[in-house]
Amino acid sequence: MDREQAIQRFGQRIQRCSGCFVAFYLKDMWLAADGSFYCGNCKDDTMFHFDEFSRKIDISRLPGDA
Ligand SMILES: [Zn+2]
Repeated sequence: MDREQAIQRFGQRIQRCSGCFVAFYLKDMWLAADGSFYCGNCKDDTMFHFDEFSRKIDISRLPGDA
């Protein structure tokens, strides 16, 4: 699996927003400095969108299909 596939797969994970507790796909979420994820309604300007942070993290260290 190459990096692009790994990122796409990572983006398909369901994650609960730390603000409103609604579940979203990770690809539609923002990452806060403390490591929690927020949806488009709850994010603020200090957070990074998936498109951004997914390119910075070490995708090879993500757990597999879990
Ligand atoms: Zn939210």
